[in-house]
Amino acid sequence: MKLLLIAATLLLLSLIPIQQSSPADIVFKNGNVYTANDKSPRAQAIAVKADKIVFVGTNAMAQKFVGPNTRVVDLKGSTVLPGFTDSHQHLSGVGQREMTLNLEGTTSLEDLLAKVKARVDQAKPGEWVTGRGWIETHWQPPVFPTRWDLDKISPNNPVILGRADGHGAVANSAALKLAGVDKTTPNPFGGEISKDKQSGEPNGMLLDAAQGLVRRRVPPTTAEDAERAVVLGSKRDVELGWTQVQDAGGSFAEVDIFKKLYAANTIKLRIYKAVYGPGPGATHLLNNGPIIGEFGNRLTVRTIKVVSDGALGSRGAALLEPYSDAHDTSGFLTVKAEELRPMLVDALKKGIQVETHAIGDRANRFILDEYEAALKAVPAGQRKVAEPRWRVEHAQIVDPPDIPRFAKLGIIPSMQPSHAIGDLFFAPSRLGIPRLAGAYAWESFIKSGIVVPGGSDAPVERGEPMIEFYAAVARKDPKGFSGEGWHPEEAVTREQALKMFTIWPAYAAFEDKLRGTIEVGKLADLTILSADIMTIPAAEILNTRCVMTVINGEIVHEVT
Ligand SMILES: [Zn+2]
Repeated sequence: MKLLLIAATLLLLSLIPIQQSSPADIVFKNGNVYTANDKSPRAQAIAVKADKIVFVGTNAMAQKFVGPNTRVVDLKGSTVLPGFTDSHQHLSGVGQREMTLNLEGTTSLEDLLAKVKARVDQAKPGEWVTGRGWIETHWQPPVFPTRWDLDKISPNNPVILGRADGHGAVANSAALKLAGVDKTTPNPFGGEISKDKQSGEPNGMLLDAAQGLVRRRVPPTTAEDAERAVVLGSKRDVELGWTQVQDAGGSFAEVDIFKKLYAANTIKLRIYKAVYGPGPGATHLLNNGPIIGEFGNRLTVRTIKVVSDGALGSRGAALLEPYSDAHDTSGFLTVKAEELRPMLVDALKKGIQVETHAIGDRANRFILDEYEAALKAVPAGQRKVAEPRWRVEHAQIVDPPDIPRFAKLGIIPSMQPSHAIGDLFFAPSRLGIPRLAGAYAWESFIKSGIVVPGGSDAPVERGEPMIEFYAAVARKDPKGFSGEGWHPEEAVTREQALKMFTIWPAYAAFEDKLRGTIEVGKLADLTILSADIMTIPAAEILNTRCVMTVINGEIVHEVT
């Protein structure tokens, strides 16, 4: 049946008259092509001229586009997908992770200390040692490291190590001393200095805003390092098969770095950048207007990123009811409604997109209410962009009655499949089983009639397209485990997962007419893989590699 369908599709394609038959720059043939275009989902060959796709169809028909100067790429059956987009990434953070001590995959406290000690031994006296990426969830026992653990391997050099989720860090005594943090230091707004229960001394763990007390003592990143981080981050992304990242928050200083690197042709990755607000970045964007499609449709800045709560792991996510494993807290909101409201109204009038980090069910309801009020206050006729495509980043824990509100208001939940397979190990204890009904509810959102762009949130997660695709379709950890409360029915189909990383992110960036499917007239962005992730057993998705990445019709990465 499937074969028949493919044959019928190919026949139909061959009947479509060719409008453009001047020679192409590149013809890809013998591909196992999935277009993500429902009207003609499969093909064998693609012809590209300059930055656009000029033909999609059979090998035989593609031959008409081969001229004397055409490069013909024989894909030998490799799987070709529309260029993958990471809908939520922190590009500089990914690059910095490559540059600083990367503690991802740390298996135990001893492992963490050994890795840090190796770095401390190389450091000059008094030099800071910084790292990030550890997570204690799978350690035995799964407890946070302390300042005293770190003091054993670094009594003199100040050390601060960020937890993978970015919402917590552990500092040693030397670092706390430099920052003047002791038992008398009050918690800052939106953060907590974790204390030893017996002595009342800070134990070294700093949550959310409290990390700033120590981090502001770390010498600032030089301009050179900031640039290097973007170069390293985009190189890694392109090698993994990402063709665009939607960079979830930052400043115009970063935008200037991107412009410089694009102008020098140093980076190829497309960047859809948001700047933080309310604050100076948002004000600048509202006053000066968006940047759309500069450097060959590579750079767009039209979005304000708001952060409305913390994270689940550090119990900073704002919940409607207290945490099941800490009855004295229900998390906290991190934005003040009175500062948010005028900005939302202004954004609608000026055609600026808003995306808001919301993890807990209280934060999600809060932001839906605020968005709804703004949309009512500024009706479509008074908006610069009638359909503003505002987004909620993460939308992790949503009270089930709030799920249909997204589709009703046209609010896009931008979600990260790997968060579910990481968090579901501790989410049952944080939330209790019943509250997991609306947690990481990808399929429920899709069924309610809204698109769900998929992302990685790297460097919070590893930031690999195959991990995200696997998590979305399997909803199991990389070893195949899933437990009580994991809600397997919220896994998505392969076809839906393909859209989560292609056409749906394009829609969420107002680029669905421009890219996101393999279709004539669209920008030639392709992600080419070593295996057919649309049909192979789920576990094999994790072993699949990107063999070629094409951006704007240019092969920017190729495994030879
Ligand atoms: Zn993020």
